[in-house]
Amino acid sequence: MKIGILGGGQLGRMFIQEALKYDDEFYVLDPNPECSCANISHFTRGDFNDYDTVLEFGQDKDVITIEIEHVNADALEFLENQGVKVVPNSKIIKIIQQKILQKKFYEENRIPSPEFEIMDGSEEEIKIQLPFVQKLNTGGYDGKGVQLIRSNEDWRNLWTQESVLENLVDIGKELSVIVAKNESGGIKTFPVTEMVADPKLNLLDFNICPGDISEETQNQIDVIANQFIHSADSPGLFAIELFLDKTGKVWVNETAPRLHNSGHQSQEGNANSQFEQFYRVVTNQPLADTDAFGFSGMLNLVGEDNFSGTVKYEGLEEVLKLPKTYVHLYGKKDTKPGRKMGHINVLADSREELMKKLIHIKSLVRVIA
Ligand code: ADP
Repeated sequence: MKIGILGGGQLGRMFIQEALKYDDEFYVLDPNPECSCANISHFTRGDFNDYDTVLEFGQDKDVITIEIEHVNADALEFLENQGVKVVPNSKIIKIIQQKILQKKFYEENRIPSPEFEIMDGSEEEIKIQLPFVQKLNTGGYDGKGVQLIRSNEDWRNLWTQESVLENLVDIGKELSVIVAKNESGGIKTFPVTEMVADPKLNLLDFNICPGDISEETQNQIDVIANQFIHSADSPGLFAIELFLDKTGKVWVNETAPRLHNSGHQSQEGNANSQFEQFYRVVTNQPLADTDAFGFSGMLNLVGEDNFSGTVKYEGLEEVLKLPKTYVHLYGKKDTKPGRKMGHINVLADSREELMKKLIHIKSLVRVIA
């Protein structure tokens, strides 16, 4: 099959890397000729937000997919109408692209997500109680476009753009569940993972599988994943980011209609990875089993503050000496503060051992220039 991917970042790279064991051809569209996929695919330099560029790229492919959701979904809709297969479909991409539509989607489909109010530019009408979280309708990623409004003083910082104002959840744990559906209707869910975020960068730091949750929490998540995948009405692989609040209730924070950082440890930690599963989805093959092998975790390799330029991975040799430890680099030449450059996966026999290993590895390695 000729598989076209909008976006040439690390998610696309790891997908192609996994899927190359099958007999397909991979075509990538990205504006950056030095992106992670450029050297490992049939590469087209171009803007995946541009209508005509996406049309031209997509028209001779058997299937078009995405590794980033900020793409021209109108062009994808046109391609669908021309008979090109688009996975996930343009309708669900459009819903997820806009926080307001995404929140309405949860509300309409009885998927629990924090109470919210829409702010369309003027702040006079706001009824929501302090503290709350403001999320820009479009353009946010990796914690940008999200801010906490705690006090009357903070009101001065309120962004004026269209946004969602959301109740602040008293978070006990941040969890994630990845659910996949193929065109034939097969559905498979990955074991729940637990995230530990770096408060400074808002970037995922450690991701641990399986998450330490009760049966009751697992049941809530099963219901959410099931409700989401049936309501989305599209084949695809979706990462649902969740909050477990301190009273034990699970809320959906947001969903990515694609491969996700919270699934990287599945590369060595599960019977099949999210990348393998995504291949099955895109090509409509039977979905793979997702069982976890013991405990696994992932540490993001993120560009350190104050370093920009040609990347150097300090301490990587020490890491490579460790057992059940797997290094994944994304083929990015230059680092800058907060840029995701790679990750390290680790396997262990207990959660305690896993945390110890992850903390040790974090102390060994630095991403500098
Ligand atoms: P992004 O997609 O840009 O990473 P998120 O919507 O995931 O943005 O928000 C980033 C972080 O902000 C979350 O991981 C969480 O820690 C915090 N956050 C977001 N929404 C809420 C909320 N309603 N209550 C409490 N914390 C929140």
